[in-house]
Amino acid sequence: MSARPQGGAAAPRDVAGVVAAVVRPEIRALTAYHVAKAEGFIKLDANENPFPMPAALRARMAAALAENPFNRYPDGGADAVIAALREAEQVPESLGMLAGNGSDELIAIITSTLARPGAVMLAPEPTFVMYRMNAIYTGMRYVGVPLAEDLTLDVDAMLAAIAREQPALVFLASPNNPTGIQYDPEQVARIVRAAPGLVVLDEAYSAFAGQTFLPRVAEFPNLLLLRTLSKVGMAALRLGYAIAAPEWIAELNKVRQPYNLNALTQAAARVLLAEQAVLAQQIVTIVAERARLAAGLAALPGVRVFPTRANFVTARVPDAPAWFARLRDAGILVKNLHGGHPLLAHCLRVTVGTPAENDALLAALEAYA
Ligand code: PMP
Repeated sequence: MSARPQGGAAAPRDVAGVVAAVVRPEIRALTAYHVAKAEGFIKLDANENPFPMPAALRARMAAALAENPFNRYPDGGADAVIAALREAEQVPESLGMLAGNGSDELIAIITSTLARPGAVMLAPEPTFVMYRMNAIYTGMRYVGVPLAEDLTLDVDAMLAAIAREQPALVFLASPNNPTGIQYDPEQVARIVRAAPGLVVLDEAYSAFAGQTFLPRVAEFPNLLLLRTLSKVGMAALRLGYAIAAPEWIAELNKVRQPYNLNALTQAAARVLLAEQAVLAQQIVTIVAERARLAAGLAALPGVRVFPTRANFVTARVPDAPAWFARLRDAGILVKNLHGGHPLLAHCLRVTVGTPAENDALLAALEAYA
């Protein structure tokens, strides 16, 4: 029997009223990260690798998963996966590494670690929206600095904002999402030198850029590299990793949940990381297709293609909402960036697909243009 307040039944309470009373207003004002339903579509909206995992590799992975001791917790530190990543990416032993449930989780861990009251997070805009979302979750003050009109870094504006705001945390994605632009490494280095706190260089798309800051991490005491396996063909696994001086990793490790990387991801990643050649070949194809897709889009009247080093092409078209709808009607899903930021007016982001998928996209647009 539950206790009843004196005087009869408890007053009926309406869920919305309780939610409004206790949920933080800044959370109520947010919209959840939107993932479009894509069943039956040619899926060119999420920057995934379009090529499925070869059957022989799937079989090896299935065998590894079957051997997993399901009654036991996974390795909390994901030591074997980190050792495999270290070897695959040739990360020197002098640098620390931390694995996360996607780089999304590492962005959250880094932000909570640095969110002292009043601390500032700064990032050039437009960029990956989860940086700002995490600033809101943790109460950091977010400062966005507009990119230049050609979507490259406005270095002077960045340096001025860093001097003025003294950010604890700067996020730079290079190549950037959703623009595809690779920032000039010397400009990145200037920003890292000028920043009083941590600079996270998010290299989610570095496999397609043929360029990484990894050899230079040890040069800077305040630089952390963020990587992910999601874009190169393992998005379903959810595995991202951070590389930085061991002192940074030791602090971040305290904020990590005890078993953040599940055992199936760990087992599958170890198999896949031993088979990098398959993925390397797919990446070569994606980079070649990227050039073909960019050229095809640039040939359409009124289209401006931004130079990309990622696995997607961002382009300004005459009417992005109409083009997006037309493609959707043709069974092709891309990302409509229009309305997200003034610098992205009438822009679409198209993930590089298989050759057949890219042909379908170009044919649909040529028929329309
Ligand atoms: N950083 C950037 C720049 C991204 O574009 C993405 C994917 N949208 C992520 C991080 C997150 O990737 P994941 O969590 O899949 O590793």
